[in-house]
Amino acid sequence: MTGEAHFDTIVLGGGPAGLTAAIYLARAKLKTLVINEGTVGGQMILTHEIANYPGVEKTSGYALSMTMKKQAESFGAEVLANKTVLSVDIEGDVKKVILEGDVTYTAKSIIVAPGGRSRTLGVPGEDALKGKGISYCATCDGDFFTDKEIIVVGGGNSALEEAVSLTKYAKRVTVVHKLDHFEAHKHAVEEAKGHPRVDFMMESVITEFHGNDRLESVDIKDLHTGNTLNRKIDGVFVFIGYVPNTESFKGMLDLNQAGEIMVTEGMATNIPGVFAAGDSTAKRFRQITTAVADGTIAALSAAEYVERSH
Ligand SMILES: Cc1cc2nc3c(=O)[nH]c(=O)nc-3n(C[C@H](O)[C@H](O)[C@H](O)COP(=O)(O)OP(=O)(O)OC[C@H]3O[C@@H](n4cnc5c(N)ncnc54)[C@H](O)[C@@H]3O)c2cc1C
Repeated sequence: MTGEAHFDTIVLGGGPAGLTAAIYLARAKLKTLVINEGTVGGQMILTHEIANYPGVEKTSGYALSMTMKKQAESFGAEVLANKTVLSVDIEGDVKKVILEGDVTYTAKSIIVAPGGRSRTLGVPGEDALKGKGISYCATCDGDFFTDKEIIVVGGGNSALEEAVSLTKYAKRVTVVHKLDHFEAHKHAVEEAKGHPRVDFMMESVITEFHGNDRLESVDIKDLHTGNTLNRKIDGVFVFIGYVPNTESFKGMLDLNQAGEIMVTEGMATNIPGVFAAGDSTAKRFRQITTAVADGTIAALSAAEYVERSH
């Protein structure tokens, strides 16, 4: 299929930040297109239960994603999912997005909301058991492991701080780290080491996750001896870093050293008419609530920009 269409605003990314932006834009009668490279909902669909989104006592990530999509469409936004974005040209007055299949979309403004991904271990079983016992977010999922035994993978500040914070729920937390020392602040190391319900497996790595509908056990290799043991476990939290999905905006948008998009208070980027929202931006906390807040601000700023450019 080939073609071309013009919009007031194109939103790149259909996670909570992008979908919220679309709700606000379409409701303000702006012609709005959301293009999402993955499944609509972004990282939300990776979690089976969301219990901390205000106003919704408990829901699945999939259900919340579909509700946000329907809400955006009900105001007239078009939402395209599972598309491959071949190139973006966002520097001029007319912004251009080219998709696979020779489809070109243009717009007066762009909201970039590509989110991010937790760095994964990349070992067998991990993809299949994500959200089914393997988590990358203690704030989101800690509560599901009340009185359970869990493993935290990593040796940096996040891993050690989250290991301690997860003792609010879990009865035992084992930190599995590939090195013989931690790469974290002294106080984080001391707090974790001093905690009676946190223990450590140093110079060890998880080599495989096992389970059908839920995680049941992990293989852990001792890098010192070369021996591998299988351990029954209720949950594994992986904290080995976070990667923003901003690779395709390098050289266009101002990014910090971590690759996160630098934005103003109004979510404006360094390019006029281009705004950014959600996990891909430089910020401390990454949650659905913070993503929807960013999406709201980016949409209101983009609407003002489109209005002014008439
Ligand atoms: C397992 C897990 C559980 C979580 N549980 C919770 C929870 O319970 N509560 C909570 O508040 N938060 C939770 N979070 C965090 C929350 O999901 C994220 O903070 C939030 O989804 C970020 O929203 P976003 O819209 O910025 O990005 P994302 O949700 O990452 O969505 C971005 C979308 O953009 C797409 N995309 C990427 N690049 C492009 C491009 N160039 N063009 C077009 N599309 C692109 C991606 O494929 C993705 O679909 C969880 C995260 C994970 C991983």
